[in-house]
Amino acid sequence: MQFVRSSYDARTLNKHLIIDHIRFSQGGSSRASLAREVGLSRATVSTIVNELLARGIVREAERVPRRGGRPPIRLEINPGGGFVAGVDIGATHVTLVLADFSGAVLAERREPLNIMDGPEICIRQVDVHLRALLASQGMSLEEIAAFGVGVPGPVSQETGEVIAPPIMPGWEDFPVRNTLQTLWGRPVLVGNDADLGALGEWVYGAGRGATHLAYIKVGSGVGAGFIFNGEIYRGAQGYAGEIGHITLLKDGPLCTCGNRGCLEALAGGAAIARQAQEAVQRGLPTRLDAIQPVERITARDVALAAQMGDLVSQQIVTQAGHYLGIAIANVINLLNPAVLVIGGGVSQMGDLLLEPIRHTARERSLPGAARGVRIVSAVLGMRSSGMGAVAYAITHALHALAE
Ligand SMILES: [Zn+2]
Repeated sequence: MQFVRSSYDARTLNKHLIIDHIRFSQGGSSRASLAREVGLSRATVSTIVNELLARGIVREAERVPRRGGRPPIRLEINPGGGFVAGVDIGATHVTLVLADFSGAVLAERREPLNIMDGPEICIRQVDVHLRALLASQGMSLEEIAAFGVGVPGPVSQETGEVIAPPIMPGWEDFPVRNTLQTLWGRPVLVGNDADLGALGEWVYGAGRGATHLAYIKVGSGVGAGFIFNGEIYRGAQGYAGEIGHITLLKDGPLCTCGNRGCLEALAGGAAIARQAQEAVQRGLPTRLDAIQPVERITARDVALAAQMGDLVSQQIVTQAGHYLGIAIANVINLLNPAVLVIGGGVSQMGDLLLEPIRHTARERSLPGAARGVRIVSAVLGMRSSGMGAVAYAITHALHALAE
């Protein structure tokens, strides 16, 4: 994630470029590679690297013995430089991750939460879980350099407010960033959960080093995040990636956004659960109601029944995969990503869902673009957005330290 502001003087700007290169370069950074790839003189690189070393932001990695001469000294972010926390607020769960500046996870927890309860209740719960997580490590809020927080709706980058979120009633214009900053007394960065999922997979997961990455989060709802040339693409107001609300069926089922036939209303976790409940109520031959009383059937139950050979459940999942595949073919045609990562809770169903997605996505996208894209599952699984929140917080913390 490049951190370039035009208002920086050249030296500060170079410092930020060097930190980003050390963090994200796939081959590892040495003083020589920095000079070559960032386009600075060896003397400038040396001066800046020495300052970053002296301030404990960067350190020299241990030398790996190698035949044929002395290897260059590799530079890395100093993990002991400080700590951050990533918080991923989803529709039904919150994931909290405590990490050091290298992104190594010290502790994490996942707790139930209902986004429909509104901001006051949810934020109180997040606060309780966060303090418990810190206490489990004998740490205090003051030791956290920055917090990254993901929410399942569009977020204004200027104000840190949630804007018109379809699955977040009561959260509209709620100042998430300011509320948490006041509560925790530390810098808080707020982002859309799918954007942070893309970032998490790009920094730590399936999309490392990819110049063009698309991440599709299939949970209760469906969202997408994009990283182009090392930057999250948010669009003008932060709505980019609302793939869940593209229309696939003109007169299809009603969606939470008020429209009909949206992808999310056909293939999100909530839609899968609803289709299963309707199947039971219509008396279709299924064992779904043996798992749960009909009104409590979830997408997870559908996956379970499908794996046990329940044909109705298998059809529901395959159909959802088919719709997701159509939407993903459109993403491939529109954006030509090199890597397309599928993550989120519902994607944990595995091949049952991923096979129809892959098949339909390839069948319905242009052959050249289809050949050029790797469609993969999220390496970080349920933690993509939480780790993206960690990466976001580390970015802020490192660059604030280097100012
Ligand atoms: Zn919709």
